[in-house]
Amino acid sequence: MEYIDLRSDTVTKPTPEMREAMAEAEVGDDVYMDDPTVNRLQEKSAEMLGKEDSLFVPSGTMGNLLALLVHCQRGDEVIVGDKSHIYLNEAGGMAALGGIYPHPIMNQPDGTLLLDDILASIQTEDVHHTITRLICLENTQNVCGGVVLSAEYMKAVGKLARENNLSLHIDGARIFNAAAALNISVKDLVAPADSVMFCLSKGLVAPVGSMLVGTKKFIKRARHLRKMLGGGVRQVGVLASAGLISLEKMSMRLGEDHARAKDLFEGLKQFQGLKLDASPSSNMVYFDLRDEVKLSVDEIIEGMKQRGVLVDWAGPRRFRLVTHYWVNDEGVEKTLKAFREVLK
Ligand SMILES: *Cc1c(COP(=O)(O)O)cnc(C)c1O
Repeated sequence: MEYIDLRSDTVTKPTPEMREAMAEAEVGDDVYMDDPTVNRLQEKSAEMLGKEDSLFVPSGTMGNLLALLVHCQRGDEVIVGDKSHIYLNEAGGMAALGGIYPHPIMNQPDGTLLLDDILASIQTEDVHHTITRLICLENTQNVCGGVVLSAEYMKAVGKLARENNLSLHIDGARIFNAAAALNISVKDLVAPADSVMFCLSKGLVAPVGSMLVGTKKFIKRARHLRKMLGGGVRQVGVLASAGLISLEKMSMRLGEDHARAKDLFEGLKQFQGLKLDASPSSNMVYFDLRDEVKLSVDEIIEGMKQRGVLVDWAGPRRFRLVTHYWVNDEGVEKTLKAFREVLK
């Protein structure tokens, strides 16, 4: 069966155009920096984000970890959101591999960290304390609903960081979704940041890869650490060729995914048993099951699967649906029909 797969935008398989580009990619050994295709991808990424340089990494998790390792020394402290991917979903890499100490503060429902909370969490100079080095923001913020942090907010945090001699890293796994939702360039959105990680492998549809961007000096150190972590790969142009299509074409069409998330939201709102979060600002729809729904999350997942739709839970009574390139209007219709039958 051809499934409509709403579990995540990570499920996106490469387009026929990407597969063709991958088959024909010009390649070389990237550890020697000899792969012309990844070099082009890195130049293009740096240019689109308005930073000096960039580096291909196999995953977003490695990109974030490299950023943390470059910005921080062992024992340094990082301010992170308590609902951030870096804090919750990266296997504690910063602590395990970098000796870096996370200082979680509360993500507000709109995905932001309050400026006062950030200020209050910066350590004072005192032998008892760690040294605060870095603030991490996530945009879009996944767990808070795929919510978008505004350019004004990012600017305010950047200013606060500079005033306090801290660096600012953006976990921008979905920064192109954020920029599309705000209708501004990614470059303007990330201008206040010292470094940014973004994923080619989610809404941008490439099969593998993320990019880390920052200053030349930052990327030089990140390249060294990437080798240390075993992420120095060879003829990576076969992957980078798909990434170039992500940047050139896929980044332009994310508004469609956001519109379909709104369509899903409007449709699901009609079902009594569901309590929806606020209208989606990017490509994610979150909702809870009301008590009147006697089915378990697993029973709903199974019922949907039998009707050709894959969905995933986000909590004991909670779901997250994610729209992407391979979900068209028909897919949205099919999903709503399946929910209607399952929840009946
Ligand atoms: C997916 C994701 C990552 C990590 O990416 P992987 O490629 O899965 O390692 C980081 N941050 C956020 C917000 C993500 O959604």
